[in-house]
Amino acid sequence: MDYSIIFDVIRDACDLTLRIQEKFVTPETWQKKDKSPVTVGDLAVQTLVAAKLSSAFPSIPLVAEESADLLQSDDGARFMSIILEFTSKYLPDVTPERVIEWVARGDHRKAGASSTFWTLDPIDGTKGFLRGGQYAIALALLEDYKVSFGVLGLPCLPPDEKGHFASNRQSTPTDSAKKGSLVYAQRGKGTWRRTLCMEDGSLKLDDDSPVRLQTSNVSDARQASFLRSFEAAHTNVSQIDLLAERMQIGGEPVLMDSQAKYAVLAAGEGDLLFRFISSKLPNYKEKIWDQAAGSIVLEEAGGKITDLDGVDLDFSQGFELTKNRGVCASNGLLHDETLRAIKEIGA
Ligand code: AMP
Ligand code: MG
Repeated sequence: MDYSIIFDVIRDACDLTLRIQEKFVTPETWQKKDKSPVTVGDLAVQTLVAAKLSSAFPSIPLVAEESADLLQSDDGARFMSIILEFTSKYLPDVTPERVIEWVARGDHRKAGASSTFWTLDPIDGTKGFLRGGQYAIALALLEDYKVSFGVLGLPCLPPDEKGHFASNRQSTPTDSAKKGSLVYAQRGKGTWRRTLCMEDGSLKLDDDSPVRLQTSNVSDARQASFLRSFEAAHTNVSQIDLLAERMQIGGEPVLMDSQAKYAVLAAGEGDLLFRFISSKLPNYKEKIWDQAAGSIVLEEAGGKITDLDGVDLDFSQGFELTKNRGVCASNGLLHDETLRAIKEIGA
């Protein structure tokens, strides 16, 4: 498969989100039934990626986070006009009918029809996108329900002058044209990073050779640091604190939105990542688009990902990981010790 078209699509999607952030202090937002926000950015990115995938890979279905329901509701018109305005740069033939067709093509409620499919989170970390934190455009290809390729577009996570991620948006890389990163992995071929640079008002992939990412070699928890959701409601902070105490984890926790965390872990700039289950939503199931791209990016960099019980993530159950409970991800070396500690604290 030729993945170069995918890199161009994800670069354009990153470009689109930056333009929306530049124009709006708070982009047009709607609250879904589960109370999570959907912005005009989520719908515009899903429109763009679904359109490009349907023309490049017409026979491969798409399972994406958003549906076209909102666009077809009474509130749809104000979203539609902004989506048209922002996607026409990349989709000259865009019309309201096509926006609905393309967004609906990815409606996750149709999941399960094929064992080969794309899965997309158009803006993973929508709350980070709204707050000025991290977010990711996350796309993965699954074949026989196994992730075979994944890419994370990270419009606000550039490498700094030392080649590390400038994880904190306040930190200024020496070269201010460097806006973000594209991190990708193909099964058996490693995890790689390219830089997204602003040139003549548009994001470009820079011409430098891709940099291979590798997880850390920290095997002593006292020297480890961990990553978790910025949103406390997406996890269980008191259980994570208990685990950190039990394992005597020495490093400061890194709070970050979205699958950007997996890219940071893959680059060896963190050693552990937890998705504990919020006590308010004990039956919460992870969504496949929240984990697929991030999982291969981590595994191909040498890391390990399972659920909190040590079970492999099972992407064959529709759009949710119904056979799994939360997520435990690591540099590989600390994985067994972490799973033991999770069991010991009864999490
Ligand atoms: P993060 O930025 O790591 O908190 O992950 C963002 C993702 O968490 C979103 O895309 C949501 O799909 C997902 N999410 C929303 N609510 C919860 C929850 N209660 N527990 C776990 N994940 C959630
Ligand atoms: Mg998400």
